[in-house]
Amino acid sequence: MKQFEVPIIYRSPLITAIKKKRKEMDKMKKDYTPTLLDLGSLHIYLARHFGFCYGVENAIEIAFRTIEESRQSGTGKRIFLLSEMIHNPQVNADLQAHGVKFLQDTQGNALIPFEELKAEDIILIPAFGTTLEIENKLRNLGIRIEEYNTTCPFVEKVWNRSEVIAKDKYTIVIHGKPKHEETRATFSHASVHSPSVIVKDMAQTEELAKYITGEKSSSSFYEEFKGLYSEGFDVEKDLQRIGVVNQTTMLASDTQAIADFLKQTMIKKYQLADDNTGEHFADTRDTLCYATNDNQNAVIGMLETNADLAIVVGGYNSSNTSHLVELCEEKLPTYFINEEKILSPKEILHYNFHTKEEILTTNYLPDKKPVKILLTSGASCPDALVEGVMNKLAGFYQAEGNIEQLLDEFS
Ligand code: SF4
Repeated sequence: MKQFEVPIIYRSPLITAIKKKRKEMDKMKKDYTPTLLDLGSLHIYLARHFGFCYGVENAIEIAFRTIEESRQSGTGKRIFLLSEMIHNPQVNADLQAHGVKFLQDTQGNALIPFEELKAEDIILIPAFGTTLEIENKLRNLGIRIEEYNTTCPFVEKVWNRSEVIAKDKYTIVIHGKPKHEETRATFSHASVHSPSVIVKDMAQTEELAKYITGEKSSSSFYEEFKGLYSEGFDVEKDLQRIGVVNQTTMLASDTQAIADFLKQTMIKKYQLADDNTGEHFADTRDTLCYATNDNQNAVIGMLETNADLAIVVGGYNSSNTSHLVELCEEKLPTYFINEEKILSPKEILHYNFHTKEEILTTNYLPDKKPVKILLTSGASCPDALVEGVMNKLAGFYQAEGNIEQLLDEFS
């Protein structure tokens, strides 16, 4: 895979060495066991896959290169980001510190009106991509967007899949978080080709299925799915032939369950057999990206270790990170932190993504030796932050020296 140039401050020499060694030993990525970092009375189990993915590194490289080119050319061009580059507070703060301004918040609310933009401004499109409406707005202002478009190729793949499904006259069901930038972008790109509707989870999918089976009157669809269907959506006609695509970062098991459920709904409704299911359901694979699959599989592999707690590092609004948390918390006490929020051996400040609040937990480290901690991070989290967490924990057990030795061991 392509190597990107991202600022060195985001890298961790130790984690880079560990990842390199694991990759050399397991080129086909079949081994999902975690890496044990034995620090004496502290055992850290580091997931096999975590941290910056292809799309995030690509976006960061383009953003920082653009800043540097603008500085060197001395043109003083203004640089804007459509919204957060990626869902990581440190990276976004660093970009802002370099003078980059955000046009919108993550919900799509304007922070700076588009009317204030000029044709010579540089607008960076984030890794999640954006809607066709916004692309057109920028083009109409004379802004060249192609050069500064950091949309991840794995997101574009979902748009291409939608187009293929649409060509075969299927309606597109998008499984994703309706307010997430990527899902809004995919909805926009899909709905120019075919009627489209978003479902956020299984509960909402079950409600959608009731319109397919006729259990629910079509008149209530428009209120129930307000804001989630494309213009001109005809619930009676447009749910007869469907195909599913996903936001790239959803939980793999949810995604599979939703596609299977909709397929079974169509099979029952139209009395289909294996050879003619395709008349009503586009039987395609999910559109989760490789990083989502790798990171979730690595967490599933890591959870086979008998540990005391798990720590997941990532942005609180990061979809892929929240799913890693979801997997961990089914099995053991899990702490979702976005920086070095480990305040002391007694207190940790962490995020409850169900209630959307940061909470303080005391006595999170058990009074036993060795303490066994599972550690991973989301696809937009710099490895340097994960190393910071490791160092902090090591400090509580006077094991800083052991961390330094690990670098020799893995190098
Ligand atoms: S999580 Fe996947 S789709 Fe999103 S930026 Fe990374 S590689 Fe691309």
